[in-house]
Amino acid sequence: MHQSKLLIPTLKENPADADVISHRLMLRAGLIRQLASGLYTWLPLGLRVIRKVEAIVREELEKSGVQEVLMPVVQPAELWEETGRWAKMGAELCRLKDRHDRDFCLGPTHEEVITDLFRREIQSYRALPVNFYQIQTKFRDEVRPRFGVMRAREFTMKDAYSFHLDQECFDTTYREMYDCYTRILTRMDLDFRAVQADSGNIGGDNSHEFHVLARSGEDTIVFASAGDYAANLEKAKAAAPSARPEAGEDCKPVATPGVHTIDDLASFLKIDAKQTVKTLVVAGEEGPVALVLRGDDELNPIKAEKLAGVIAPLRMATDEEIKQHVGCAPGSIGPCNLELTTYVDSYAAALADFVCGANEDDVHLTGVNWERDVALDDAFVVDLRTVREGDPAPDGQGELKFLRGIEVGHIFQLDRVYSEPMNATVLDPDGKSLIPIMGCYGMGITRLVAAIIEQNHDDDGICWPEPLTPFDVHIVALNYAKSEPVREAADRLHEELSAKGFSVLLDDRGERPGVKFADADLIGLPHRITVGGRALKEGNVEYRRRTESDNRSVPLADVAGCLQS
Ligand code: ATP
Ligand code: MG
Repeated sequence: MHQSKLLIPTLKENPADADVISHRLMLRAGLIRQLASGLYTWLPLGLRVIRKVEAIVREELEKSGVQEVLMPVVQPAELWEETGRWAKMGAELCRLKDRHDRDFCLGPTHEEVITDLFRREIQSYRALPVNFYQIQTKFRDEVRPRFGVMRAREFTMKDAYSFHLDQECFDTTYREMYDCYTRILTRMDLDFRAVQADSGNIGGDNSHEFHVLARSGEDTIVFASAGDYAANLEKAKAAAPSARPEAGEDCKPVATPGVHTIDDLASFLKIDAKQTVKTLVVAGEEGPVALVLRGDDELNPIKAEKLAGVIAPLRMATDEEIKQHVGCAPGSIGPCNLELTTYVDSYAAALADFVCGANEDDVHLTGVNWERDVALDDAFVVDLRTVREGDPAPDGQGELKFLRGIEVGHIFQLDRVYSEPMNATVLDPDGKSLIPIMGCYGMGITRLVAAIIEQNHDDDGICWPEPLTPFDVHIVALNYAKSEPVREAADRLHEELSAKGFSVLLDDRGERPGVKFADADLIGLPHRITVGGRALKEGNVEYRRRTESDNRSVPLADVAGCLQS
């Protein structure tokens, strides 16, 4: 391909509004252009990378026996009403009306559509398990589109949905999809981790996110320094602390005027925040529920909203509700004589002689001990805290460490959340009607392109891994327009390499060498061949690998062989 014929609008300067490196490089190397917030046009180079990503994804999914379909972007509201999601989805769902005033939406995901297809077309258990995928445009009106195509409003996703007679069959497919995702990301040369993720209200351990490691990642992933434990921050657990020390002090009230936070309390009493507990009050199904944590710990809302009696999504009680049910302001609540359902985090439950609010404004209690001063029911000792680096791993193997990750894929169990309300059934071997279990497997195709760049760049530009590069070889022809020998040699090389199966970009533009080299580094093809008048007189060209700094002189005739090896 001649570069002068291709739209590759490279930029010398860093665009002002691009915060992460992949976004900057995608703009500078001419891969994408923004149309409006979260909406991007893919230019020829960028699109070629998408096609490479898609090809790998398709190949590996087909190997795993998943069949490709293509569902519409526009979806009728009736389907979403059947599952209750028309009312439940917020502003992220883009709704529209057709000319007959009927409601539709732009698909943010396709569970309803695939379940509708399944119920119309599949009636017998004999067809199961079955797994469908598509590579399709999604639209989500994200609150904060950012980082370019990483969090866009319109993006390409590979989504797959499987249907099963029973849990055992689902578990097998889940494992296959886990392996398939591992193969896909390995083929892309990415440094990634699969981590346990929260499975929402479905429960069970069948939920994994696949994260590409990158400092710019929006997510924190947690892994153990020894052993295999890895989870996202929402889900991560630490080993519960060992037995509680004996009580040493007497329980006493102390006046704490104007002390409302744990920091104030610790400095007022000159103690470590670790020796205090904090009591948070959240909305519950039958009145407010108290959550007790060690003073220095943070509540993990995802863990909290799963507790029996707690309303999801989590809502903190208002000051008035607290006043009404506890009798004091939020800064003075404590577990002693508290007449609310109370859950205690295991780290708070391991304290002796601790300090807490006295449920009376401006008063705290010191020397408080569980059992002696506050009843503690083992059934209400739970995991509530957000883990911290250095915590012991839950399986006792090493300690927890944090990394930043970009979520590129998520696989999980849907159970019967869609098949049941939508009445998708099959007949089992005994002719009885049975509701299948579903699985769902997402992968962000366009987000992957950004993630690949986050992991493969240097100060000068992108460094494409071979399996994903938009072209294999960049021929940089110096003085192409004016020098007949250069033009001839470059064109011949282009033809020869193309015939040998390489994809070739030939820089035939009338730019100065410095501009051409800078652009070649920015675009970042793995192999660069410079054709220049002087070396050509000796029958040579210069070869440079994108990730190396040295040029090598290679006889023109040996280029193809050199690339092949
Ligand atoms: P996130 O937590 O990042 O919003 P999600 O949980 O909403 O992701 P899923 O619904 O599981 O994501 O979608 C599957 C995949 O689609 C994600 O793993 C991600 O790679 C990709 N994806 C999701 N939202 C976007 C977006 N706004 N822009 C680009 N890719 C996205
Ligand atoms: Mg999302």
